[in-house]
Amino acid sequence: MAHGTDTPEQSGGPDGRPKILAPRAGAERRSFANTDVWIFDLDNTLYPAECNLFAQVDHRMGEFIAHYLGVPYVHARHLQKAYYRQFGTTLAGLMAVHKLDPGEFLAYVHDIDLSVVSEAPELRAEIASLPGRRLIFTNGSRRHAERVAEKLGVLDLFEDICDIEACNYVPKPEADAFQRMISRHGVAPGSAAMFEDMPMNLEVPHALGMTTVLVHSSYIDHPLQQKMKTWTELPDHIHHMTLDLGQFLADRRTSLGGCDAERE
Ligand SMILES: [Mg+2]
Repeated sequence: MAHGTDTPEQSGGPDGRPKILAPRAGAERRSFANTDVWIFDLDNTLYPAECNLFAQVDHRMGEFIAHYLGVPYVHARHLQKAYYRQFGTTLAGLMAVHKLDPGEFLAYVHDIDLSVVSEAPELRAEIASLPGRRLIFTNGSRRHAERVAEKLGVLDLFEDICDIEACNYVPKPEADAFQRMISRHGVAPGSAAMFEDMPMNLEVPHALGMTTVLVHSSYIDHPLQQKMKTWTELPDHIHHMTLDLGQFLADRRTSLGGCDAERE
């Protein structure tokens, strides 16, 4: 598990809970009235960041780099975060700089203990009620997504998983990753919704015409996530924000697809 310098900063106010922000006055408000494809990020989106599952992945990435490059763990962690910031993912940086074989890396970093992830029957019921197709779109591996979704009890609800291999190892937030996902799965962006915990991963979906939802995560380890602390309203590329994905989907269902689902 991550500890010491591994631990990302936790966001939140005095009560530890961030505030739900409203859109800017005059900003475009996109609803779910026409949504027929529901696209979910996996890590820290389908499961809550508070279970610290991704902290295990994060720690194992550092371990892998230390072994792979033969450098001390502290140095490996520095490289890991530098690649993450420069290339979008640690893996993308390792492939570009060190010609790494991605399969070996993905198998190692996703070999984690899933006991911290609880079955989520309420979330399952809400995802099951979504009208249309459902996809998982992750910068991780298909195997990781399958294991986690199975543990949550939602795997069978998804039509497919678009993983990093399916995107030829081009990660979100790059536009090419979204284009590959869209063409692979025949998604019409104007009738799709994207759920994500990383705000920068919603910029391209917004530009393509999707409805975007930021599932706020307490797991903050990117400078662009740090910027969230200075927000007083939602940036225009984020149409909705929630602290609780299952509750958000329940609100959407009861509001008949209107624009009021961002309330908590
Ligand atoms: Mg995520």
